[in-house]
Amino acid sequence: MTEIQPAPDELVALARVMRPQWDHDVLAKAILAAKNAGWTWDHVLAETVRLMRKADASPFDLKAAAYRVCCGTLAGMIAHQSAGEKPCGWCLQAETAARLAAEAVTRRPAPAGALDPVTADQATVNRAVLAAEIEEFERGRGAANVVPYRPRRIA
Ligand SMILES: [Zn+2]
Repeated sequence: MTEIQPAPDELVALARVMRPQWDHDVLAKAILAAKNAGWTWDHVLAETVRLMRKADASPFDLKAAAYRVCCGTLAGMIAHQSAGEKPCGWCLQAETAARLAAEAVTRRPAPAGALDPVTADQATVNRAVLAAEIEEFERGRGAANVVPYRPRRIA
């Protein structure tokens, strides 16, 4: 027994006869978009036949059904591209978010005030911690004549 084979061209040809008023380029692109959105051939066939039997349906309904489940994901972006159209806002937003996440760029800059200069008290504490770290580093590397770090005085 051979497996069920997809036949998108024949399905479009059937629609051409059954629904002559349809835009068959749109249907062909919608079938491709549905496939690229992850639909099985069985699903594409069943949905297309269902729409062909519905008096007020159009190939745009197939495309909308395919996009409904995949927009905002990579599959949605691929579906739009395979249908030869610009991606929708959800897909653009998802792609931007994915690109920014990959580059570890936050969506928003740090809030104002987060990088304000340190206070004089905090600077003194920071300087003491740094001096202790430097002294420990120097001793750890075998330096015999470690002179404690003395920051220059600001005149
Ligand atoms: Zn989309």
